[in-house]
Amino acid sequence: MKDGFSREIDYLRISLTDKCNLRCGYCMPKEGITHLRHEDILTLEETGRIAAIMSKLGVRRVRLTGGEPLVRKGVAGFIRMLINECGISKVSMTSNGCLLDEHAKSLREAGLPEINISLDTLNRDTFYYLTGKDELDRVLKGIDTALKTGFHVKLNTVLLKGINDEEAEALVKYADGLGVVIRFIELMPLGCGRLYEGVSSASLIKRLETVYGKAYKTDRTDDDNKGPAEYYDFEKLGIGTGFISPMSHMFCKSCSRVRLTAEGFLKLCLQYPDGVDLRDPLRSGMSDGEIKEIIEKAVLKKPECHSFSVNENNTDRRKMVEIGG
Ligand code: SAM
Ligand code: SF4
Repeated sequence: MKDGFSREIDYLRISLTDKCNLRCGYCMPKEGITHLRHEDILTLEETGRIAAIMSKLGVRRVRLTGGEPLVRKGVAGFIRMLINECGISKVSMTSNGCLLDEHAKSLREAGLPEINISLDTLNRDTFYYLTGKDELDRVLKGIDTALKTGFHVKLNTVLLKGINDEEAEALVKYADGLGVVIRFIELMPLGCGRLYEGVSSASLIKRLETVYGKAYKTDRTDDDNKGPAEYYDFEKLGIGTGFISPMSHMFCKSCSRVRLTAEGFLKLCLQYPDGVDLRDPLRSGMSDGEIKEIIEKAVLKKPECHSFSVNENNTDRRKMVEIGG
């Protein structure tokens, strides 16, 4: 399926829940959010039906996210459904890792090959400060179990000035020691992200060079050239380091994704509130063909690019945890 700018849309990020067991300050307010009512959240069957319709429109890859996807019951069964019944050839997940130790085996058996785990700090106090929970050990155990269970793991880190930016070197060393890739994501001024100051990829690369030697940009990519990360090899590191730079280096030209929120809203771009509700059409008895038309029409209106740096007024007012990062 193509959008209005001839970009092929083949990637769907599904938020399974707006609930989370952490409270990362840049994603969710400390006091939490008003959660969706149970009946307003799509059932996994309804979500699977949308995925199946979208697979007929060319969507091949699905990433499960949230909130924390693993707080939703039945995720392993849902992955099976996506792969076996909905025509989705590649399923992946982004998780905070807290519940991975207990779920890794069932997720792997369900056919999930890879997982991105968010890790912003290796310091227990900073973890508590950032997330409101003393769960660092559980996350590290989750990473360990995921690796032992055979997952292809990537770590995702958001650096915040004055909070965890001094840890970049240590995080890189930790990832290198495990033999896993770490990717630094620039903070986006979305929801609670506006309350913090992020770190640009360029300044981070410079800083890492002082410790790990000269950095060389590689042609490595994620997801068949469609992933937003750029990879660099540092002289003194065994494994490449990824940089995702939505702020300093927009990658909208090659954007291939749309998002489905937990309440069934098809969101076209992370920044803007534009999109279309699919829950009412689903629940009002519309046929797959009719829903397909709604999706195709909406996707044609996908914005050309975000404008975080120049215009924040038209930014979605929802928090990242409600949208699905
Ligand atoms: N709970 C899961 C997790 O933390 O991995 C999945 C959902 S979380 C919203 C997905 C990713 O979005 C995390 O890696 C998180 O760091 C990132 N994120 C949240 N708010 C962000 C922001 N304002 N700017 C950049 N990344 C953000
Ligand atoms: Fe939860 Fe992930 Fe948001 Fe942190 S970044 S509050 S773990 S959804």
